[in-house]
Amino acid sequence: MKIAVAGTGYVGLVTGVCLASKGHDVTCVDIDEDKVQVMKQGISPIYEPGLSELMKENMEHLTFTTDYVSAYKDAEVIFIGVGTPEKQDGSANLTYVYQVAKQIAQSAKRDCVVVVKSTVPIGTNDKLESYIHDKQKADVNIYVASNPEFLAQGTAVKDTLHASRIVIGVESEEPGEILQRVYADFEAPKLIVKRRSAEMVKYASNDFLALKISYVNEIANLCETVGADITEVTKGMGYDARIGDRFLNAGIGYGGSCFPKDTKALSWLASFNDKEIRTVKAAIEVNDSQKFKLIKKAKKYYEDFLFLNVAILGCTFKPGTDDLREAPSLVNVPLLLEDGAHVRIWDPVGTDNFRKKIPNQKIQYCESIDEALVDADICFIFTEWDDVKKYDVQKYKQLMKTPIVLDGRNCYGLDAFENTGITYASVGRPTVN
Ligand code: NAD
Repeated sequence: MKIAVAGTGYVGLVTGVCLASKGHDVTCVDIDEDKVQVMKQGISPIYEPGLSELMKENMEHLTFTTDYVSAYKDAEVIFIGVGTPEKQDGSANLTYVYQVAKQIAQSAKRDCVVVVKSTVPIGTNDKLESYIHDKQKADVNIYVASNPEFLAQGTAVKDTLHASRIVIGVESEEPGEILQRVYADFEAPKLIVKRRSAEMVKYASNDFLALKISYVNEIANLCETVGADITEVTKGMGYDARIGDRFLNAGIGYGGSCFPKDTKALSWLASFNDKEIRTVKAAIEVNDSQKFKLIKKAKKYYEDFLFLNVAILGCTFKPGTDDLREAPSLVNVPLLLEDGAHVRIWDPVGTDNFRKKIPNQKIQYCESIDEALVDADICFIFTEWDDVKKYDVQKYKQLMKTPIVLDGRNCYGLDAFENTGITYASVGRPTVN
């Protein structure tokens, strides 16, 4: 089928490449000229495991352009995967989605389905359909369908090719059938529902996961006080199929482009409708304070960070991605710098983006974990990269001036540090040494 995708971020590009891998002819549109130039050469502008390879293999089915008119005019299906960032008041900013909708309305010259993958508040697709109908130039049928995206960064390609489910929200049969054809070769349960339900599935799922994390983090904080070990506790909980054993890792809170904004957007939407969604509000509050957990713990060892060498292992919001949006490192590193610390950061893929977000000459970026640790007075682990998890813990002792390791992601078993002379404090577990 002839498909266009608006936006080539984590969702748009992965969607476009995966659709091309199933034989569809896909034109990916972005407003960012530099990005488009890079993609034209078969290079992915974002880091996502397996994406570059799949993109290179399917270049014959892929076109990259900023020329939206040529892309939208004769596409049978147009996916919208542009950002819906958070506004100051917590609501979703729909400017980019509406920009694309307007461009489609002005360009479409044949019947088509506009498929909204961007996460949008419940009711948005109804409004978008009316908006497009008001603005459209040609006398053609333009349907709007909701098809929320559930991929997780770090496993985006796998999550798309083997999706847990494909939710299709439509108000009539035809767009539903067209989307069934688009996804015919994707092995995943397909669920056809009403548009508003599809929009809600996305928020309800993401916010539930955020809630699960915040719940575990609160239990972890209590474990520290009462002397229990959260890893043992969650292991015991996970055997219950009603709870499940995934997404039960305690840590310094969730980040990324989705959970923080989607919890706030749902909370905003509830209050806009004179409702209160208290569980989600609580998840947000817990997460906001959890991000500072390690820095608070560090005060036990140092009154302030003046002239201290601080090693940071991992700065992305999770492993497997170069994305830093809402990463705990972004709020913690500035505090350390303000306090006079010498900050050294190691991350396998995130440092370029960190440099852009926090341009500070004083930060030293390291090529290896060893380099970050040399002479350090304290080490913070913000991301559970495999390199960190596999790191020989004895080296913390050998390389650091004072071996104090504060692990925000519970990368190691406690026994690894017993009798090592390394102080190891993690989340929801007793401190060793
Ligand atoms: P992103 O910021 O990585 O990418 C958005 C892209 O859209 C950018 O490249 C931008 O230049 C481009 N763009 C903006 N206006 C455009 C226009 N008029 N035409 C064409 N391109 C345009 O965003 P993302 O992380 O891929 O997220 C996109 C949407 O998907 C959001 O609503 C997000 O909530 C949702 N989502 C994201 C994830 C995720 O893990 N990132 C998962 C599920 C759902």
